Amino acid sequence: MLKRMAVGTAIAALAAMALQVQISAQQQAQGGGQARRAVGGTTAGNDAYPTDDQYRNSKEAQALVKKAFDIAGTDWRLQERFEKSCGALGPQRPAVLRQNAGLPGEPTRVMEPVKIFDNMYFIGYNTIGAWVIPTSQGILMIDALNNEKDAIEIIEPSLKKIGLNPANVKTIIVGHGHFDHFGGAPYMQQKYGTHIAMSKLDWDLIERPNPNARGPQAARPLPKRDIELTDGQKVTLGDETITVKITPGHTPGSLAYYIPVKDHGRAINILMLSGANITPDRASLMAFNSALDYAKQVKAQALINGHPGLFGNETGWMEQIRETPNQPNPFVLTADQFGKFTDIMRYCAESRLVALDYKGTN
Ligand SMILES: [Zn+2]
Repeated sequence: MLKRMAVGTAIAALAAMALQVQISAQQQAQGGGQARRAVGGTTAGNDAYPTDDQYRNSKEAQALVKKAFDIAGTDWRLQERFEKSCGALGPQRPAVLRQNAGLPGEPTRVMEPVKIFDNMYFIGYNTIGAWVIPTSQGILMIDALNNEKDAIEIIEPSLKKIGLNPANVKTIIVGHGHFDHFGGAPYMQQKYGTHIAMSKLDWDLIERPNPNARGPQAARPLPKRDIELTDGQKVTLGDETITVKITPGHTPGSLAYYIPVKDHGRAINILMLSGANITPDRASLMAFNSALDYAKQVKAQALINGHPGLFGNETGWMEQIRETPNQPNPFVLTADQFGKFTDIMRYCAESRLVALDYKGTN
């Protein structure tokens, strides 16, 4: 069984590599990837990513990439994460990678709820999800999908499928102020009196008029300002306490979360990066580094993200958990491996920043 799984993951890794190769070939055909697209804004605007030429030609950037590559060494699980983390665009959704490669998109589909940890479920789509943590005093959720329709057609029925009552969702922590993370929150707040927690900075962000929004987008309902989170704050519900840190970069107040969970009965800590690992400037890189330091300190062992596919083959791992729930959890690394993974993320993020300085002289 183990052998079969290893082969399966090896094939997945090969497929990912083949995709990378296709992407590179396509980018060359397009003249150095001018048509590429990165997902999600940054607090520094659209010029926060180096071009492929800058990234390839900056000796400083490539020295950092080499450091990250060497840390992964011969560990294929770290190699897979290195592949996802390092590059001019950093971790990107599979759909974006496919689009940049000129490949047809993978359709969005609703996922069956999956029990990722003993006390944590994933619900939502293959491209964006929400996380459900039942506690001794009700349900804690992270994120709320895109809109009211998702709340009615996905959040409520998924909770019922798991055997939970949507009326018991006491708090939703929103990772950052974008609609795909808080869209369903106003409905939950109104219908069930669910508390909505977000960084103060991102409450401010969503309440500012958005000059780019038009028509129905501009009219989409917002949650009413509720719990304002600050750096290092703890959010407790019953027997669960989540600690958050502010990691600006994708938005001014994107959150990193430290979440204690149980994996096959064993207590472990996991890290969630809602702002992906987008570090458009030094201040942002420092905040991420301190968030990653803290993850090491609490011996975190798994990384999750609202968008599956950003840091690994997350939807594949979810299927694997569904099919073989008693096998080791593919999300979970050893604390030592995870520490190395945080170093890989750190060097890869820094490599993008230093590549921005490349002006074609070294
Ligand atoms: Zn976003």
